Amino acid sequence: MYRTLSSYLKEKYGMKIKKICIDGGFTCPNRDGTCGTGGCIYCGERGAGEHIDGLKSISEQVSEQLASTKADGYIAYFQNFTNTYAPVEVLRERYLSALTDDRIKVLAIGTRPDCITAEICDLLKDLSTKVDIWVELGLQTANDDTAKVIHRGYDLSVYREAARLLMENSIPFVTHMIIGLPGEGEADALRTADEIISSGAFGIKIHSLYVMEGTELAEMYRKGLYEPISFDEYTETAAKVLDRIGDTLVVHRITGDCPRDLLVAPEWNTDKQRVINEIRRRLGELK
Ligand code: SF4
Repeated sequence: MYRTLSSYLKEKYGMKIKKICIDGGFTCPNRDGTCGTGGCIYCGERGAGEHIDGLKSISEQVSEQLASTKADGYIAYFQNFTNTYAPVEVLRERYLSALTDDRIKVLAIGTRPDCITAEICDLLKDLSTKVDIWVELGLQTANDDTAKVIHRGYDLSVYREAARLLMENSIPFVTHMIIGLPGEGEADALRTADEIISSGAFGIKIHSLYVMEGTELAEMYRKGLYEPISFDEYTETAAKVLDRIGDTLVVHRITGDCPRDLLVAPEWNTDKQRVINEIRRRLGELK
């Protein structure tokens, strides 16, 4: 099999840990004109956190979710947009405002590799004396040609440098990859997995590319310029990626998660359990 996040958390904390998602009120350099304006072609208006009520303060978001999510411990995940994209003092204040309860065991911070600096690493190291921290980097692909097509706004060398900085500062990181990007096939996915393994990441999130309403990808799809990956191709490729990973990384997820009302395609993406079961079945066949 593979190392799941739930087994890792159980082993490390000995309790049931669940994730709560936070909109920290950040934006993204790929949207505000610093490196781009339209964002990545698949990015929705809420910057990958469509279900979060970002109008509330961080501490309100935390307390509401602690009340509604039954668990013994929590991961506070800063999800929307680029959560290291602000002056360090602003970052410190926003991160600290999420740490309102001792049951929060992990602060997880989603960001872009071009927004990791030595100063930010110092801040994270400092905060890691209060709470466990990991950073989540949206690499998506190791192929620089694809990165241009999806308007990611940085190349692979930037990811390598961010990974190096995080490793040097002993800050664990999880890297996100997407299977089914325009023009990519199995070989690209395996190469991306190899890159993530060799970069020193402790974890990986594997998503399928889905088409969400309001994105550039949705326009491409409607014009016939993008065909979503099929259920069979996705599950087969994901199984091969997991086989490649073995037990080197903690696998945080193996499916995409688009809100139903915003999903344009593919329809199979709505049945998460079916996707997971099929990937596991195929992985078993590879053993
Ligand atoms: S880096 Fe993230 S938040 Fe920024 S445009 Fe891309 S997907 Fe959206």
